[in-house]
Amino acid sequence: MIIVMKADTRPDSPEVARVTALAQSFPGVTTQVHHIQGATRSVTEVYLLGPTGVIPSTPFEEFEFVEKVVRVTEKFRAIGRHGGHLEAVGFEYNGVRISQDTLHVFPGLCAVDTPENLDDTFRALARHGVVTARAGVYKPRTSPYDFQGLGAACLPWVFERAGKHGIKIIAMEVTRESHLEEIQNALTASGFPTGVMLQIGTRNAQNFELLKAVGAQTDLPVLFKRGMGITLEESLNACEYVASGGNRRIVFCLRGMKTNLGDPHRNFVDFGHVPVVKRLTRLPVCVDPSHSVGRRTAGPDGILDVFHVTAQGVVAGANLVLVDVHPRPEEALCDGPQALFLHELPHFLDDVRIARRAYEERLARAARA
Ligand code: PEP
Ligand code: MN
Repeated sequence: MIIVMKADTRPDSPEVARVTALAQSFPGVTTQVHHIQGATRSVTEVYLLGPTGVIPSTPFEEFEFVEKVVRVTEKFRAIGRHGGHLEAVGFEYNGVRISQDTLHVFPGLCAVDTPENLDDTFRALARHGVVTARAGVYKPRTSPYDFQGLGAACLPWVFERAGKHGIKIIAMEVTRESHLEEIQNALTASGFPTGVMLQIGTRNAQNFELLKAVGAQTDLPVLFKRGMGITLEESLNACEYVASGGNRRIVFCLRGMKTNLGDPHRNFVDFGHVPVVKRLTRLPVCVDPSHSVGRRTAGPDGILDVFHVTAQGVVAGANLVLVDVHPRPEEALCDGPQALFLHELPHFLDDVRIARRAYEERLARAARA
């Protein structure tokens, strides 16, 4: 059960205290208070946990400072929209606003290899006005003999260079709990020249202990990638682990499904689920065209498959695009075959803008319908 307070009710206000006191007077019921940045305003919500089925709504609805009482279904308690009764949640991190209405492109290295390549990449981003990037330093590889990422040792120069080029957020995968501390320590030691969005990779989508760990901290937002071989519902339930830990600054990322039915692409592109995830959850939705397509093939129209599927995600309302680029893809230590060349970046960004304009036109048309 969620008690949505009227606009401008602070989480530490006496009104919220009255709601929590009433809630806690029911046996076995505990409360969590969340202050949420919604699409149109910020709102305080009180979550009632425990045996809430027997609790009547009326005493809460009678408070003049309560906007509404929403009975949640079992599914996706924290991230769900519960039949459209709850609005989308966005957040602002390091000066960048992310929500179901915004669009940001996160280009960068799948795996950080050399300072020069990182510098070249960030410089290209800065030249094109991009302040959000990806940079992997902990790489979960299919083979133990493949490059595993440079790890914590490179964090100081990764953060320093990000700061130098004005990068505000780096999406960075973590594969174990200790990586959180390594990132926090390196950010602190370098004076926070940039921000980090913790990425949960598809291989860890059901690593519940890791999900609890990223959910238990609220300093850094989380980019949760769907599991490659599980249903959307299972992925959303896994994502719920992050939110139920207390962290509500989450982005849900579609990155394709593992099946030969998607051949010749690396994964079967699932960007048709962008509006589905936006409908089922309150979260901004990311698409990862690089790991979906996995190669540099182009259509007879001369447009790369990576561009085409990105456009499909954006035209359907995606809020983030995570894309691999590399100054010298042939030398990349991970996923070079799917990386865009830096000279392709302006074309890619233009293509994203074209698709976004199409989405905005579609929105306006739908509003008139
Ligand atoms: C990545 O983004 O570098 C990555 C490993 O992606 P995924 O977890 O989707 O395979
Ligand atoms: Mn990769």
